[in-house]
Amino acid sequence: INVYERGEKIMDFSGKVAVVTGGANGIGRAVSLGFAHRGARVVVVDRDAEAGAAVAAEIGSAAIFHQADVTQSGDVLGYVEAALNAFGAIDCFHNNAGIEGRVAPTAEYDEAVFDAVMAVNVKGAFLGLRHVLPVMIRQQRGAVVNTASIAGLVGTAGMPAYVASKHAVIGMTKVAAGEVGPLGIRVNAICPGPITTRMVQDIAKQVSPNNPEGVEERYAALIPLRRYGTAEEVANLVLFLCSDLASNITGAQYVVDGGRTAA
Ligand code: NAD
Repeated sequence: INVYERGEKIMDFSGKVAVVTGGANGIGRAVSLGFAHRGARVVVVDRDAEAGAAVAAEIGSAAIFHQADVTQSGDVLGYVEAALNAFGAIDCFHNNAGIEGRVAPTAEYDEAVFDAVMAVNVKGAFLGLRHVLPVMIRQQRGAVVNTASIAGLVGTAGMPAYVASKHAVIGMTKVAAGEVGPLGIRVNAICPGPITTRMVQDIAKQVSPNNPEGVEERYAALIPLRRYGTAEEVANLVLFLCSDLASNITGAQYVVDGGRTAA
């Protein structure tokens, strides 16, 4: 599709419906606002009702908030139904809710925390695909972006559950892309490096309770661009991958990490 020759607006989501899990805060919030800014109607999904409702209110009548815990299949079916009832379709799905868990070496890692991280990051992402893909298959169109991480590509000491969960997200992305590709439905993963959200602040506090700011300074020195990314910079990649500009891109994983994994 040569959208330039057709004179279309670039990355215009007018008439499209986007569902964003973890849409109340951080990256998902920036993606929700980004979709709305570019004309989409947006379903903000999160277990955090206060922040989620605030994002929907900020967008206005083009958005609804739906409270859900992505680890519960009933809740996942609930947000799919809410999207269809409110807006009649799901064109773009950002499968993004995630948690970091604790920072501790594998030899000391808490079993219950491992299960909790896998429940949100792996089962939650699976359930999203499980219940959104049938909608897209019926529609014969759609684009999915799963939020993995650079922790889905390389290991990082002290985060065995998180790293395992994000490698799993990349695996599920490849499987789903192969399954629904023949219908023209695309499924990709994004791999953000450190992004300035609550999540990295929590990790910094766990690594260095007395000097969390020092953690950012140390980590940023390892990044070619010498800084953490912003949620908006991640949103730009998500919107691109959901747009017609990415019409030949599926089953792929894209880093947005300031060069961290390259250097
Ligand atoms: P965040 O904590 O600001 O946002 C995560 C959102 O997910 C929150 O609104 C939270 O309420 C929601 N959520 C968590 N568990 C949920 C559940 N069971 N059901 C419904 N909602 C739930 O963090 P963020 O940085 O915006 O993280 C978003 C995604 O990006 C996560 O998958 C995370 O692993 C990934 N990621 C973040 C970074 C980073 O540096 N911040 C880097 C790479 C990947």
